[in-house]
Amino acid sequence: MFHWQEGLFLTQAGLALDVTRRQKVGFISHAHADHIARHEMALCTAATGKLYNHRLGPLRRTMELPYREPKEFGPLTLTTYPAGHCLGSAMLLADDGKKRLLFTGDFKLGPSATCEAAELPRADILVMESTFGKPKYRLPPREEVIAELVELVLQTLAEGRTPVIHAYALGKAQEVTRLLTLAGIPVQQHPDTFAVSKVYLECGMDLGNVTEFCGKLKPGHAVVTLPKGMKNFRISGIRDPVSFAVTGWAIDESAKYRYGVDYALPLSDHADFDQLLETVERVGASEIYCTHGPADFVAHLRAAGYNAHPVTGSYQMRMF
Ligand SMILES: [Zn+2]
Repeated sequence: MFHWQEGLFLTQAGLALDVTRRQKVGFISHAHADHIARHEMALCTAATGKLYNHRLGPLRRTMELPYREPKEFGPLTLTTYPAGHCLGSAMLLADDGKKRLLFTGDFKLGPSATCEAAELPRADILVMESTFGKPKYRLPPREEVIAELVELVLQTLAEGRTPVIHAYALGKAQEVTRLLTLAGIPVQQHPDTFAVSKVYLECGMDLGNVTEFCGKLKPGHAVVTLPKGMKNFRISGIRDPVSFAVTGWAIDESAKYRYGVDYALPLSDHADFDQLLETVERVGASEIYCTHGPADFVAHLRAAGYNAHPVTGSYQMRMF
């Protein structure tokens, strides 16, 4: 049903999934750079289409796959489900009448302030990302991390200093912004980040009291900017900043030093180790293929009795 050729392809339908080379038709699970290319035609949700056009457009051709609406595509029926990763992020269920394959793309279980929570349909074949596929990547409860973030940001403001949060411009930045504005903290965003936020607003996602940083810091505001080290991440004119990184990798003790920030908090838009295992259990697939993760995860699943395989390089899957 699929093969891997430096990327995943649904063989019978000739459909590329998150392949980063230009294709005739490519499914895009979400608009992060490592999942998109300038395809002749992209299949995606409406929100992903808008974000994809923001990044690589304008006027790229897209065909909409709204959540939970089956669409015929050659010999397959395709249905998308929310993936809980960023606005528009989708899993793809492909049904050829005999078997169902679920491709997760990047995903996270549980609630999010800025996108729909993931839904997991049952499938016979599961192709899943497994970024945090090591037992040490068990993240603390989300509410605890959010409470810590809000407390530290409020404390920073109370000291007359400026909280500066470094986050990916698409997804994490909007999530952190919404979590802060929900706690009554207004946010100024880096212009590149704000440009993505405008797409969120166009899609009807309320981000609260957020404005673009136009060279002047407003008192009492937190600043959300690009990850450290990215071109143009610096915002000038901020005195006495206290910097934050917000990422699942913060579970590593050394993250704060690696990211060069004062605080690193483990809030992720990827499933942690326990959520990966929960996904395997809930989808109930008899064959599991893992992408984007450590070999340990496949070994862990095999030891637990699952029929699991890594997919990398030139892996060829038998067709049926
Ligand atoms: Zn992603």
